Amino acid sequence: ETIGACLNRIAARFPDRDALVDVSQGRRWTYAQLNAEVDRLARALLAMDVAKGARVGIWAPNCPEWALLQYATARIGAILVCINPAYRSHELSYVLRHAGVSLLVAATGNRGADYRAMVAEVRGEAPELREVIYIGDPSWEQLMRAGDAVSAETLARRADELSFGDPINIQYTSGTTGAPKGATLTHHNILNNGYFAGGLINYTERDRVCVPVPFYHCFGMVIGNLAAMSHGAAVIVPGANFDPIATARAVVAEKCTSLYGVPTMFISILAEPEARHLDFSSLRTGVMAGAPCPVAVMREVIERLNMREVAICYGMTETSPVSTMTRVDDDLRRRTETVGRAMPHVQVQIVSPVTGLTVPRGTAGEVCTRGYSVMRGYWNQPDKTREAIDEDGWMHTGDLGVMDEDGYVAIVGRIKDMVIRGGENIYPREIEEFLYGHPDVIDAQVIGVPDEKYGEELMACLRLREGAEPLNAASLRAFCEGKLARYKIPRYVRVMEAFPMTVTGKIRKVELREQALAWLQ
Ligand code: ATP
Ligand code: MG
Repeated sequence: ETIGACLNRIAARFPDRDALVDVSQGRRWTYAQLNAEVDRLARALLAMDVAKGARVGIWAPNCPEWALLQYATARIGAILVCINPAYRSHELSYVLRHAGVSLLVAATGNRGADYRAMVAEVRGEAPELREVIYIGDPSWEQLMRAGDAVSAETLARRADELSFGDPINIQYTSGTTGAPKGATLTHHNILNNGYFAGGLINYTERDRVCVPVPFYHCFGMVIGNLAAMSHGAAVIVPGANFDPIATARAVVAEKCTSLYGVPTMFISILAEPEARHLDFSSLRTGVMAGAPCPVAVMREVIERLNMREVAICYGMTETSPVSTMTRVDDDLRRRTETVGRAMPHVQVQIVSPVTGLTVPRGTAGEVCTRGYSVMRGYWNQPDKTREAIDEDGWMHTGDLGVMDEDGYVAIVGRIKDMVIRGGENIYPREIEEFLYGHPDVIDAQVIGVPDEKYGEELMACLRLREGAEPLNAASLRAFCEGKLARYKIPRYVRVMEAFPMTVTGKIRKVELREQALAWLQ
């Protein structure tokens, strides 16, 4: 089934149920209304001669038009190119050129950044870009009106030409380990992933899903929009950008049953004084993804936010995104120490990066996944695709994990981050977690630096609490001694004000390592 066909079916079945609610602007659509609006926008795109397979860029923070465009492009078989709202002109220019975007739909600006000015700056660098439409601007209204001239038959004819195996999305990875790569995804990839993820947390048309995570990322677009839509549930958008108190209020006002976020978002919601007095009894479930969740936070999410059936997901842009997920009846330990087990119809195995053979349960190795969810490939980067997906269809994630007897997977780090010191494999995350236990440490990153004797040595990059006692290699050693094996104690310590970050809020270890090398000189 294509996404367009799925939306038609859901709108026919649940015409009067809420589909989309924009809390900050007080706008709402039922499924019948949403489907009619998507049809109108799809006809507008046809009026603009948007061909099947043409790339349509979307550069905007969360807003209803984002979702409308997602469905309208799918309905006509155009490829939606998701552009991070935090990007600036240089990155925008790269994506427009790399994906060959012909039509760009953009917000006029966000968080003080002037999108129009940046588009004007790079327009000359993107030869394929024909047209730019701004949301909330007369050009958007003009576009919609143009659609009224295109008949329903024309749209139906286009729908007949589509197949669920067609690519409809180019989604860029976060760029944590290098330049972002454009994962090319099909209806089949993402609609199924959303449908199965929603199924594992028992979504029905009675669910109301609060989505404060960005739509431009798979998490919002697939596990938000598509998971909700394919089960007839409503998507509640608290605002353009994440705001903890606006999110908490939206949950209460809209009686949401499900709430999404990365762990740090839950931490900031829980830290709001006002949130202590709000009634979260409508909540039942939700999804946490992207990073491991501390036990104390998970406990509060379950108890104070009432999210008894919250799930932890692990995945990556290249796998639509979710590969493993906890189940609603998993215990606290599984929800904090593991990322669950394989999704339906997804295979997961752990292989030795050295021999390429499956390792025994309980042994660390590279997480590999196979199934419907694996992307078609990286857009215009066939070499990178061949490096990532082997001849048997296994996606090599670059993540290190351990699988237990029951198939539950724990993520222990990334291969690129693993340090080999004197023949011993060291997983920085283990040491980082230990260092968080130091009373003066607010953030810790452990990296490997070249060493003549051992091949690599460990360096701890630390951010310290204000007013903390100075910390050096000797005092850190004293703290670690007796608690960590000798070879895992960092030889170098570097105290830093801030770490280099990606736009999705992950730490860029590659850059951190480069900086460390320069610092050691
Ligand atoms: P790039 O591929 O450009 O270097 P990226 O891998 O960070 O960037 P994404 O596709 O957004 O880009 O993120 C996927 C990665 O996020 C996974 O490979 C994994 O390392 C990490 N990740 C995702 N979910 C979890 C989780 N639940 N626990 C721990 N790590 C996770
Ligand atoms: Mg990646």
